[in-house]
Amino acid sequence: MIIGITTFRKDHCRIIINRGLLERAGEIIRKKSGARKLFIITDTNVKRLHFETLRKCLTKSQLEYDLISFPAGERSKSLATYNRIISQLLKKGADRRSILVTFGGGVTGDMAGFAAATYMRGIELIQIPTTLVGQIDSSIGGKVAIDSEMTKNLIGSFYSPSLIMIDPNLLSTLAERDFLNGFFEAIKIALVQSRPLYKFMKDNFTAIMRRDTRLLEQLIRRCIKEKAKIVTADPFDLNIRAILNFGHTLGHALESAGGYKQITHGEAVGRGMLVALRLSQVMEKLPCSRVLEASAIINSAFRQQRIKIPNPNRLWKIMTHDKKVENGRVRFILLKEIGKPVVRTVNKQLFIEALKMI
Ligand code: NAD
Repeated sequence: MIIGITTFRKDHCRIIINRGLLERAGEIIRKKSGARKLFIITDTNVKRLHFETLRKCLTKSQLEYDLISFPAGERSKSLATYNRIISQLLKKGADRRSILVTFGGGVTGDMAGFAAATYMRGIELIQIPTTLVGQIDSSIGGKVAIDSEMTKNLIGSFYSPSLIMIDPNLLSTLAERDFLNGFFEAIKIALVQSRPLYKFMKDNFTAIMRRDTRLLEQLIRRCIKEKAKIVTADPFDLNIRAILNFGHTLGHALESAGGYKQITHGEAVGRGMLVALRLSQVMEKLPCSRVLEASAIINSAFRQQRIKIPNPNRLWKIMTHDKKVENGRVRFILLKEIGKPVVRTVNKQLFIEALKMI
């Protein structure tokens, strides 16, 4: 399956999705870019689990490469690791014709993507995302970034890969927590953008959770198509791309209140979506049957059924200090219907009432 998207710089980004694709990555890169030298950036987990497969096919295609790895985890998405990558690229002789290949989840894609965007004012970037978040979300839309000590993704850019290669088979080794993070992003895309995708996820919930690779391939393809529509309409995240923040207003506050340790990003967004659905019912007349159905799907994906809910006043305060808040007004993405999002200012009393949903 091949999807083509035209990026904001008007160059073309080809996305290939196929089970077992990793074994053909060398051949595809060779055909596309000839024998240019590759610099593969990966984290320690992906290196251990999947690099051998990539190595074999690069060797078979007689491609020259260097490998740079860094410790797995969000903490590595830092200026320090970025600096190390840049120094390694220089030391190993990367030049303007070299190609940087990201091989890993959203952390690798964001950080190494930012290295590609900035090294010698930008070198060609190819992404091989290996998590569900990476495959449906972070590799699509050109956002690359590292975290600063103060804020996530503070230092970054928009930089599009020329090629994204997605192999759903890679998801079989993913920890459940990481798989679920991707699932919550997928249901978010469906709820704000596409009723047919939502129906597909509802009808195939059990098989998706079982990680049936045939269904995952379809899910990934459909999510990418929907996300691509949004980012093509708003490449620099100035207006409608905000709908992708569905569930994130409260989600970020829950993560922040728990010091980013008590709850995963996916679970926080999942709980944020429950509250946004309830607010949509009250404020936008989203039918009760829809709210119950979508909430049931989200609830079934939680591994931690009950969480300790921080004090509502504290959550409200965190939300009013969010970088996306204007004039102290807390905005939520709500739904008039599945696939019909709106941005609304929510008052504290309604929020506290809706918080009972989690
Ligand atoms: P991640 O890259 O840290 O991967 C999660 C974990 O899975 C890591 O421990 C990693 O080593 C491991 N892993 C990766 N592939 C694996 C595989 N196939 N098998 C087993 N383990 C594997 O995190 P993530 O959830 O992929 O991405 C989260 C990051 O993505 C955040 O930094 C977030 O800000 C960013 N993000 C960016 C965008 C964007 O538009 N650029 C969108 C969403 C998220």
